[in-house]
Amino acid sequence: KEFGGTQPDDYDSFYEIILWDEFARMGGGGVLGQMSINSMALPPIIKYGSQRIKDMVVKDVVQGRKQCSLMISEPYAGSDVANIRTRAERKGDVYIVNGQKKWITGGLIADYFTALVRTGGPGAGGLSVLLLDKNMPGISIRKMETQFDNTHNTTFIELDDVEVPVANLIGEEGKGFGYIMVNFNHERFVLACSTCRSSRLCYQEAFHEAMSRKVFGKKLIENGVIRWKLAEMARQIEALQDNIERIAFMFSSGVADAALGSQCALLKVQASKTFEYCAREAVQIFGGSGLVKEGRGKIVERLYRDVRQMAIPGGSEEILLDLAIRQAMRKAAKL
Ligand SMILES: Cc1cc2nc3c(=O)[nH]c(=O)nc-3n(C[C@H](O)[C@H](O)[C@H](O)COP(=O)(O)OP(=O)(O)OC[C@H]3O[C@@H](n4cnc5c(N)ncnc54)[C@H](O)[C@@H]3O)c2cc1C
Repeated sequence: KEFGGTQPDDYDSFYEIILWDEFARMGGGGVLGQMSINSMALPPIIKYGSQRIKDMVVKDVVQGRKQCSLMISEPYAGSDVANIRTRAERKGDVYIVNGQKKWITGGLIADYFTALVRTGGPGAGGLSVLLLDKNMPGISIRKMETQFDNTHNTTFIELDDVEVPVANLIGEEGKGFGYIMVNFNHERFVLACSTCRSSRLCYQEAFHEAMSRKVFGKKLIENGVIRWKLAEMARQIEALQDNIERIAFMFSSGVADAALGSQCALLKVQASKTFEYCAREAVQIFGGSGLVKEGRGKIVERLYRDVRQMAIPGGSEEILLDLAIRQAMRKAAKL
């Protein structure tokens, strides 16, 4: 609201469930991708940015005039965020930034980038967040074709002697890793909300198909095997929905972000696995119609290609499951 948004006074995370759910329901594609990436790139600026940076960026992005992308991953470090290599050397009142960033969503239409760079030594303690402007000389951006729809503007970005004013530092030098990690909870929650709707779409489309398609003289739904597939889909979707609402309640009740790391990690894995199951079984129910980009199976054909983009970006399943158990081990060690 402070930055010109239309947030109602009693806004809470349940509004967010509706927002991301409805975008996914209509097959939001690039619009959903860009809105969610704005919602991931802005929080470090809002929480830790100077007033000058907030005034420059936040209002325009919140009101839809400009876009902001999140620039963390590199060809040699995706999961291993602490080991990114893009360097920012301080020279007087500018940083000189050199490196490569890979898979950056929305890169072609971004006006700004919330970028994680190395200002210090190795490891997490050497990382800082800088605000980059797309017009800064030395930034070159190219599109990467993707398995799913191509409207997310997934990009490869080269940073070649980019001069970034020191005033564009977000928060303090050396604290960038922490700023980005806390931000991941919200990102994973957002992804889970839209993934839950994508799973429901698979179920919905498959249910209608099973009710109408006749094979061997009877409707598909009259086969126990098909009903079992639909029941399994529904069971997993309802469990996911409950989990999303439980975590929304924790966010809304003011549970500290630091206490929600493993919860949000497990939630995102539950979401991508539910979606994977539902997309697989929906295509099976559609048969050949689920493999062509036309006709009644075209929605599940598209959703099937969306699955892996929910299982890898924003923390892959392997990394998130590991994160949750590592946190449990740390707690157990303190008992
Ligand atoms: C479509 C798309 C959009 C993206 N958007 C953005 C964006 O906007 N901004 C951004 O910064 N990044 C973005 N990314 C990058 C994304 O976050 C990374 O791809 C992801 O974190 C995985 O990193 P990686 O691809 O380097 O895989 P790697 O880290 O190389 O891992 C490869 C595989 O090994 C597994 N693995 C790695 N370490 C372990 C381990 N210790 N134990 C077990 N398994 C392990 C991983 O789970 C993965 O399956 C995007 C990626 C994609 C594909």
